[in-house]
Amino acid sequence: MTDTELRREAPAYDLAALRARLEGLRLDDNPAILRQKSRDFFWYSPVLKRQLDEVTADLVVYATTPEEVARVLAAAFALGIPVTPRGAGTGNYGQAMPLAGGVVLDLSGLDRVLEIEPGFVRAQAGAIIADIDAATKAHSGQELRLHPSTYRTASIGGFIAGGSGGVGSITWGGLRDLGNVLALTLLTMEAEPRRLRLSGDDLAKVTHAYGTNGIIIEVEMPLAPAHDWVELMVGFDDFAAAAAYGNGLGEQDAILKKLVSAIAAPVPQDYFLRHRKYLPDGKHVVLVMVAPIALGACLAFTARHGGDLLFRSDTLAPEEAKGLPPLYELAWNHTTLRALRVDPAITYLQTLYLFPDQLARVAGIHARLGAEVPAHLEFVRFDGKITCFGLPLVRFTTEERLEEIIALHETAGIPVFNPHRYTLEEGGMKQTDAAQLAFKREADPRGLLNPHKMIAWEDPAFDFAAARTYLFPGLRKS
Ligand SMILES: Cc1cc2nc3c(=O)[nH]c(=O)nc-3n(C[C@H](O)[C@H](O)[C@H](O)COP(=O)(O)OP(=O)(O)OC[C@H]3O[C@@H](n4cnc5c(N)ncnc54)[C@H](O)[C@@H]3O)c2cc1C
Repeated sequence: MTDTELRREAPAYDLAALRARLEGLRLDDNPAILRQKSRDFFWYSPVLKRQLDEVTADLVVYATTPEEVARVLAAAFALGIPVTPRGAGTGNYGQAMPLAGGVVLDLSGLDRVLEIEPGFVRAQAGAIIADIDAATKAHSGQELRLHPSTYRTASIGGFIAGGSGGVGSITWGGLRDLGNVLALTLLTMEAEPRRLRLSGDDLAKVTHAYGTNGIIIEVEMPLAPAHDWVELMVGFDDFAAAAAYGNGLGEQDAILKKLVSAIAAPVPQDYFLRHRKYLPDGKHVVLVMVAPIALGACLAFTARHGGDLLFRSDTLAPEEAKGLPPLYELAWNHTTLRALRVDPAITYLQTLYLFPDQLARVAGIHARLGAEVPAHLEFVRFDGKITCFGLPLVRFTTEERLEEIIALHETAGIPVFNPHRYTLEEGGMKQTDAAQLAFKREADPRGLLNPHKMIAWEDPAFDFAAARTYLFPGLRKS
């Protein structure tokens, strides 16, 4: 859909009838609230900012119980009104933005932790991820395996429906991996919404589907033992050495860690303002979160690689520690956020450097693009191997140049999960296929959930077989 078509897309819904059906629920049509709840972090992308800036819902509805969610879905279904679910609205690609107007369904009130067992937590979908961890730590010294760097603000349902991985992925992989989500309970968008519990391969129908295939009301997640993670910043004079260290540390299976990120100078010096005094000019920096029991081993590994220990959180005086953000809020997409706060002209890409020649690919593309595209790597376990995603910053000039930079990556064999697109398929993380589409027909027969995000639904001629790398592959080859 073109920009103009998007703006024109504002059918008149029967909001009076909707209000009557939703009597007793909290509703809001204050224009400032409508605008705020219709936005996420889409403005990271200059392209999405141009395309989506005017997108606004007609009504915000707050649900605090599964029964209220079901009421909203039944009412909107009967009246043909679109519903876009929203957790905390921290997605980066306009995922939670209501492109066809209608209802934004705020799920932040569905925030209860329901059950904790050894290795297992069941929670409502709107619960904030850090709140779930606080409950599982207090209950039995356990924590979620992985979380986005928006840990303190994002909901668990939003993470599963819109995210991919993050802090913890160096040990556990990502949301795409079987075992990192155990089960999901969702409500379908029908006259009488049904409650479905999905597990195993069926989870792929809903993970990273932007809420187009049902509203998640409950999640069942695996837990790991909790640690008071020690934060380290390790400096190198050469980015290739920083990347080799990060990759090597990732491969040290016996060093228990939660984060390994390599960030090229001068990004840390220019944008990590509250850590600035620890960051000598010119140093390329690796951020590490390591378990206290593994600290000695990690320091020995660091010395072996000739890394300079610039910062360690466990030796800071309490006054010095005060005011410093947690290290994970310098990593993943927080690196971009910190850069944007200083230089609003910055944007970014999301790339994958495939094993086994990931470091050579990183070196090749950054030698080619230089200071225009500073390197940022997040090391992860990917299908059992250590490799890295890239979240390189881009010093944005024009949309044409951005497309050229993307094309240069793809020509070099580096898949780009394009953060400047709002559809599932063009973003490239989620492959839709016949099975996905069949499930959508079941879960959302009128296509009212988060419209315009799934091209395959709207374009019957969509080519499922298009050759590209998807982070969340399709259910079945079609
Ligand atoms: C600074 C910054 C750092 C980030 N770091 C990471 C990172 O490390 N890893 C990562 O994966 N992402 C990251 N993100 C993206 C985002 O923060 C996460 O994916 C986050 O978990 C989204 O949660 P949310 O509650 O904000 O979801 P929202 O933005 O509210 O929603 C995300 C998507 O899920 C849908 N949705 C929300 N709730 C439900 C539900 N209950 N049922 C069905 N669909 C639903 C929405 O419609 C939308 O399509 C980052 C973003 C920013 C701005």
